[in-house]
Amino acid sequence: MTLASVNPATGETLKTFAPLTADEIEDRLALADRAFQEHRRTTFATRAAWMNTAADVLDARREEIAQVMTAEMGKTIVAARAEAAKCARAMRFYAEHAEGFLADEPLADPSAVDAKTAMIRWQPLGVVLAVMPWNFPLWQVVRFAAPALMAGNTGLLKHASNVPQTALFLEELYREAGFPPGCFQTLLIGSKQVEGVLRDPRVAAATLTGSEAAGRSVASIAGDEVKKTVLELGGSDAFVVMPSADLDAAVATAVTARVQNNGQSCIAAKRFIVHDAVFDAFADAFTARMRGLTVGDPADEATDVGPLATEQGREDVVELVTDAVRAGATVLCGGETPDGPGWFYPPTVLTDITPDMRVFTEEVFGPVAQLYRVSSAEEAVRIANATTFGLGSAAWTDDADERDLFVDELEAGAVFVNGLVASSPQLPFGGVKRSGYGRELSALGIREFCNAKTVWLA
Ligand code: NAP
Repeated sequence: MTLASVNPATGETLKTFAPLTADEIEDRLALADRAFQEHRRTTFATRAAWMNTAADVLDARREEIAQVMTAEMGKTIVAARAEAAKCARAMRFYAEHAEGFLADEPLADPSAVDAKTAMIRWQPLGVVLAVMPWNFPLWQVVRFAAPALMAGNTGLLKHASNVPQTALFLEELYREAGFPPGCFQTLLIGSKQVEGVLRDPRVAAATLTGSEAAGRSVASIAGDEVKKTVLELGGSDAFVVMPSADLDAAVATAVTARVQNNGQSCIAAKRFIVHDAVFDAFADAFTARMRGLTVGDPADEATDVGPLATEQGREDVVELVTDAVRAGATVLCGGETPDGPGWFYPPTVLTDITPDMRVFTEEVFGPVAQLYRVSSAEEAVRIANATTFGLGSAAWTDDADERDLFVDELEAGAVFVNGLVASSPQLPFGGVKRSGYGRELSALGIREFCNAKTVWLA
């Protein structure tokens, strides 16, 4: 198999790479293991200095990597620059806070366990394999790597096959920042080569961000090896709008929430569940804005929505929309695949969705919004939860009782009230149900790949 950068705006192959051979993989595993033995003994101050330098290097090379991401997977250049800037912020966040997050936690009353002192000491696990997707090719990796490296782990990145240049940039970035060889390495390998790496005794744990199928495969192999995993999988986030909400703000945020990253975000709002009293007004304003977006060259700063990242990705979206329309969904805008080069798909709004349509249960990874009409907050919760996913969720209301209902009852790893669901280094990020398990970011994220060692001293 070949790993290739293909420009999704044109279909042109930019660069190809041969996957690593078995011997090359072995060399990298051995180096990662050796590096861990050194890295785990470095001080937080040393690691923080390297991490802050990595942030500085990334800031200095922002334009270069933004252009690579736009060329490789089609995100708009404006979004690519913002992603790189966010990564630098996350690096600085963990440089500053890792030591505090992993400080010893003494038991308040050690005499209760017949000890003079008892505490938790957080220690790194070892070499962690990160299997990552192409949609935020820098951010998904950095939100794993910044805490993992600050904790004293070493990382092996198996990135998605369509973003090899971003994958190589990441390895170079950490080296240039001063992290010793082997602390962070990119493995240019296909998904079939993951099992061998994961089963290697020198690999302690794995994290995967991607589809449910990939997550199931990696988790079952890791389970067989009794290795810790964190899974960040798909989502079909609900975005509930109630009559008391600020409708203009809800509409503006709804559009951003659906088309960010050309519609390819796990925490994009995908199902808009709107109260009957404001449904028509919401649908009209939302559809008008979706129709008005500029679709085109992602390298152009005026573009709102670029192409989908892969030909297969667009095919998947076309199939889901076709299935829905055949079963009676109404298309309020979009829905037609354009002619011409590139894997463009227009912002699309569907309504009259019924449970027999695939879109009701499956994730649509493209700029396609579904509108559902409901007559109460309870019905909104029922529809929102009628999915196997549970990643993010949003509720728009100015009513305190409704707010409490949504906060308590929405089955998701996060609920945002009157705002855009987004990840931040300060907030835990992750899902429930088939959106995965474990948390990234915040103090919880850095502890996922640590041994919470119980220390008991007489
Ligand atoms: P994907 O096909 O699962 O790919 C993700 C990564 O897994 C790639 O590196 C891929 O490698 C690898 N992979 C695929 N199958 C594998 C297998 N059987 N064993 C080991 N590795 C395997 O995901 P995608 O469709 O490109 O990405 C979109 C999905 O990711 C969506 O469902 C989206 O919601 C989800 N996502 C979730 C989050 C989150 O934080 N929860 C964030 C972003 C995206 P190859 O490229 O070589 O196949």
